[in-house]
Amino acid sequence: MKKLINAPRQVVPEMLEGLVALSPGLALLEGETVVIRTDAPLRDKVALISGGGSGHEPAHAGYVGPGLLTAAVAGDVFTSPGTDAVLAAIRAVAGPPGVLLIVKNYTGDRLNFGLAAEIARAERIPVEMVVVDDDVALAAGGSHAGRRGLAGTVLVHKIAGAAAERGMRLTEVKRAAEGAIADLGTMGVALTPCTVPAAGQPGFLLSVEEIELGLGIHGEAGVRRARIVPADALVDEMLGRIVADRGISAGESVALLVNGLGGTPVMELSIVARGAVAWLQRQGIIVARAWAGSFLTALEMAGCSVSLLRVDAERVALLDEEAKAPAWPGSPHAPATLGRPRVSVRGAKRAASAGKPGPLGPVLHAVCAALQREERRLTELDQAVGDGDLGISLARGAEAVERDMAGYDLTNPAATLLGLSATLMQSLGGTSGPLYAAFLLRAAGALESARTVDADAWAAAFRAGIDAVSDLGGAAPGDRTMLDALHPACAALQDALTAGEKPLEALSRAVTAARAGAAQTATVIPRKGRSSYLGERALGHPDPGAAAVVVWLEAISEALG
Ligand code: ADP
Ligand code: MG
Repeated sequence: MKKLINAPRQVVPEMLEGLVALSPGLALLEGETVVIRTDAPLRDKVALISGGGSGHEPAHAGYVGPGLLTAAVAGDVFTSPGTDAVLAAIRAVAGPPGVLLIVKNYTGDRLNFGLAAEIARAERIPVEMVVVDDDVALAAGGSHAGRRGLAGTVLVHKIAGAAAERGMRLTEVKRAAEGAIADLGTMGVALTPCTVPAAGQPGFLLSVEEIELGLGIHGEAGVRRARIVPADALVDEMLGRIVADRGISAGESVALLVNGLGGTPVMELSIVARGAVAWLQRQGIIVARAWAGSFLTALEMAGCSVSLLRVDAERVALLDEEAKAPAWPGSPHAPATLGRPRVSVRGAKRAASAGKPGPLGPVLHAVCAALQREERRLTELDQAVGDGDLGISLARGAEAVERDMAGYDLTNPAATLLGLSATLMQSLGGTSGPLYAAFLLRAAGALESARTVDADAWAAAFRAGIDAVSDLGGAAPGDRTMLDALHPACAALQDALTAGEKPLEALSRAVTAARAGAAQTATVIPRKGRSSYLGERALGHPDPGAAAVVVWLEAISEALG
């Protein structure tokens, strides 16, 4: 287990101390793992308390603040807080209007919050409790402890918080919360398990291709284990289930909450959000409000949940009401419609002679096929000493060339290289992108000014292209870059031609020299490019860019041979 902690038993108090230190409006209740608003107890408003086991941060302490919770009670990781802690929170925040407890449906939480409420009522504190059970993955009324409370709980906090802030009475705030709970559904998917600090081991295991559908938020297993599928297919399954379960139909409005489980990149949450908005729009369901972020997590678990809350104008107004808590992002406006036409910036100029077939076509096809075939190996080489994108970049470039090739004048070598340069400039990216674009641009210029396009002219163009790479990238042979394959290849080509060898023989000498040059890079400490950060650790691994040169040069040689 690798975690940024001091001691497993101290994670909850230390976490709360950190949160409170950074949040001027929050305080810790003396001797308890309870976060309260510094201005509690509230004289004229219903106070709201939520909480439960820790490990779901920013829930629930992150939602303490005006317009949201008044206090949050934190138990140990994935363990309900004790009755004493809940009771201490109630006593600390209760004013005359009373207290609403918002509890996620787990047996321990129900019992501890329920008992605390009972004791508080005996002390004449008005207390009500609502239980959130938004998990639609479990059959309603099945043989289990009732549906679990998941990320949709945050929306219940917001609805109830706004109602309390407006000065509604306890019964009215409770009714607003219960109404929201009845119209709320959530379903989750896990891609990885999570490790409770005190346990030191993940709660369950998933193989690299497995996912757990319909899981809870405590690392407990889900409803079904499946193979990973594209995000849109998961969205389809999750939203389909929620909509069917909650009886949400076309023409109705919803608030959408895409929730990361703690270990999910923002990138993936946005992809899920995109899929969810599109899915709902296809069903004719109006997305009145939508959020994506990590709202209620399961430690470092990768995966997400999606929640839908049926809304009317009143609920939207409650969601939009201002609230100030560390983890509440505010209420955004309705998401834009997906699939609007976007402004195109590509104004590809097509030559008059575009699309003419020529002898260069088969060579380009061969190069593209070779780069696609070698994608994996180049990726692995770049993973060892770079960032692992070279194989993908070159395969993407090859795909773009296959797509654009019909627009090149393949009877004209200079025009073809110019077309290639434009295609690669747009599609390749990384460091290789501009370098190859410059290489081809300069080579095209050299061919254009040649009187006849013979082997010598091609060799001169090759040399010119290499000079462009040096000029732009500032590297010299021996710096451990693609130049260490390009330079010896070009020298071998020119030497062989000067010695009177046939063009194809000269080319195969160039391939041999490139291969030797690329292999040699494994013995050199990098000075240029990303791998220069590795220093001596790069030794033993060849430069991926140089290896890529061998791939395309060899493909040209074989296609012509
Ligand atoms: P990155 O991911 O670092 O932006 P790529 O993955 O597209 O770059 O390409 C990596 C390859 O680019 C390296 O293996 C090396 O051959 C080549 N390269 C890096 N810097 C230079 C440079 N200054 N001149 C020539 N080639 C370079
Ligand atoms: Mg790279």
